[in-house]
Amino acid sequence: MLREKIAGIRKGKISAVENISGFLKAIKEKDKDVNAFISINEKSLEEAESADKKIKNGKAGRLAGLAIAVKSNLNVDGMLVSCASHTLDNYYATYDADAIRKIKAEDGIIIGMTNMDEFACGSSGESSAYGATANPSAPGRIPGGTSSGSAAAIAAGMCDIALGSDTGGSIRNPASHCGVAGIKPSYGRVSRFGLIDSAMSFDQIGALANETYGCALLMEVISGKSSYDATAYDAPVPKYTEKVKNDRSIRIGVSREFENLCTDARLNRLISGKIAEFASRTGSATSNVKLKYVDLSIQAYYPIQYVEFFSGTRKFDGKKYGKKIEENCGEEVLRRILGGEEISKAEYRGAHYRKALAAKGLIVTDFEKAFKTVDVIMLPTTPVLPHKLGEKITEPRTMYAYDAFTCPANLAGICAGVVNAGRIDGIPVGMQIMAPSLREDLLLRTMSEFEAGESHQN
Ligand code: GLN
Repeated sequence: MLREKIAGIRKGKISAVENISGFLKAIKEKDKDVNAFISINEKSLEEAESADKKIKNGKAGRLAGLAIAVKSNLNVDGMLVSCASHTLDNYYATYDADAIRKIKAEDGIIIGMTNMDEFACGSSGESSAYGATANPSAPGRIPGGTSSGSAAAIAAGMCDIALGSDTGGSIRNPASHCGVAGIKPSYGRVSRFGLIDSAMSFDQIGALANETYGCALLMEVISGKSSYDATAYDAPVPKYTEKVKNDRSIRIGVSREFENLCTDARLNRLISGKIAEFASRTGSATSNVKLKYVDLSIQAYYPIQYVEFFSGTRKFDGKKYGKKIEENCGEEVLRRILGGEEISKAEYRGAHYRKALAAKGLIVTDFEKAFKTVDVIMLPTTPVLPHKLGEKITEPRTMYAYDAFTCPANLAGICAGVVNAGRIDGIPVGMQIMAPSLREDLLLRTMSEFEAGESHQN
């Protein structure tokens, strides 16, 4: 329990050094099998010592002594920020991303850089140039991606909280498959400064942890405006960790459109059952919401992602830092660069990109209408269970299908999170909860309420 651990650190029952050494030991023992980390912060123990001094002097920040793992697409001064690609396998960051600066200011300790799908393109955690990550909660299965290492590090007990990024589902998908909690904030809630982008109009930095509390705590620290990212909102950051006295009853939306897209009926059954249980336990009402255009989400998401990805990768031309991307990347990244270039060229006819933007507009309106009648929407995280590690997925479309329930939130710019809802055949299944833009307070509260119900059952 993170809340109790933090209290223990404050009271000197456990020191920052003890906490960090414990995780370093766990990494040493387990990570040869899990492959969640690409590199470890050699200075983490030194940093823990200075955190301990601050704790003694009563000057420590909110994350003092906690081990934070960071996805390898976020700049951390002095660390290898490879995006799990040979393109950047000798790029050491020279500055801190905004989110990292804020974590350090609260005395959080960066324990290491996590594995991921190359340049955050994928859904399985298998496309890293540093080898695939294993799923500690479902042996033999993929951990999900692209924040595969961050989710696996949490699931294997190798850090307290992990940072991930989510463009079309990359925090929620691995959170679901690894049985941990994860949040993708609303677009603009967290500054993207220092994140190596996958698609800049969708990307958001978010958190993964064993329980919602860890996600809420990190969100309190990293949210808010930035003078380096004009898209970051200048809106007050609520105290997400505070227990709010409320009547618990909320209006829950469910959508038949998502049910129809769910190809594994067992997932649907489990999630619908859990929604009904949650509603009756909290005295909440459920109603159907019509999301008429969500079935277009994948077709709308990918052309936009391809075009923005192509544009964003033009800086990897091998001249300033790193190597030329086209000559050093894997198959999926190359597909997107070439595909993005083609779509951009075809654009004089408005062939794909503008159509995708129009579909995105329809999806935005769908959610705006839905949130007039409900507070949150509950649904599965992926339409299928994670495949077996190493199973060859030959059709890109099969891999893209994993995003059917997650990319709608990125298209609409709203926030969404995942909490464990049980297991099927021993494989964790995550409940996805969506809330309106900038309502992370409501989202996190609903996530912890759901979690509370689940832990009573165990
Ligand atoms: N699977 C999606 C893609 O490959 C989402 C990835 C992500 O969220 N970074 O684009």
